[in-house]
Amino acid sequence: MGFFASVNGEIAPAEEARVSVLDNGFAFGDSVYETLRTYSGRPFRLDRHLRRLRASAARLGIEVSLRDAELRRRLSDLLARAANPESYVRVIVTRGQGDISYNFDRVKGPTVVMVVKPFQAYPDHLYRDGVDVILSQVRRNHPQSLDPAIKSSNLLNNILAVREAQVRGATEALLLNHAGDVAEGASTNVFVVRAGALVTPPLDAGILAGITREVVLELGRGLGLPVREQRLPVADLVGADEAFLTSSTRELAPVRTVDGRAIGGGKPGPITIRLLSAFREEAARPTA
Ligand code: PMP
Repeated sequence: MGFFASVNGEIAPAEEARVSVLDNGFAFGDSVYETLRTYSGRPFRLDRHLRRLRASAARLGIEVSLRDAELRRRLSDLLARAANPESYVRVIVTRGQGDISYNFDRVKGPTVVMVVKPFQAYPDHLYRDGVDVILSQVRRNHPQSLDPAIKSSNLLNNILAVREAQVRGATEALLLNHAGDVAEGASTNVFVVRAGALVTPPLDAGILAGITREVVLELGRGLGLPVREQRLPVADLVGADEAFLTSSTRELAPVRTVDGRAIGGGKPGPITIRLLSAFREEAARPTA
């Protein structure tokens, strides 16, 4: 059981794995990534994660010549080596090794890193009681600056917000977009339930197209709930009947408070609970 990495297909214990100091990922944050987890040892929605990874890379002009089959084979070898009951998985693709300059034609790449470690879920009480979140003072990157749709490893926007949450004793920071609407969490998407309808900000609010978000939208429609992707003013979050966060590692985490103000009854609402259990059923399906 353990923490292992694959660097361009070579597996080593994570603490021994190395990437060059000349790597553009290190020198410039010139890289993209995916985070996912396994259920019964199988990476959940790996197809969608690989598709999004390629889309992020394409936006930055990073060429990923490896085929999906090769990426899958490397990950499967790494998971087998780590032999964790369940794994947290990170896949990182950098432009490659350059000479610390903007001369991209000299960069040899990409560098493809995969890291796995034993998966650690949020403690149960956070699903039972809900999480406390803050509205960060930090705005989400403007889509015309560094588009949040690109899942880049250049995470300083997110780190600034998370540090603020940590100082204030909250589990997650929510960021507003350039227009002042709720965009997303530092590492999660945001949903609210209002009058029985499931509402989440649209992709053009300047957010990551979360894979859990997409699955939850599908599940919501499947359950016959009214589902809307629409702008989310702060007042609609604070005044919501229910709110929850989504991510590949957090599934659906109910929100208990926003800036100390209770959401709904201050405990997970019925629709959140129903969707969480539908999500877990979906993730547990052998064909998922
Ligand atoms: N937004 C941001 C900024 C994130 O980093 C993440 C985590 N990858 C998410 C949303 C949730 O996305 P997903 O459901 O694909 O994990």
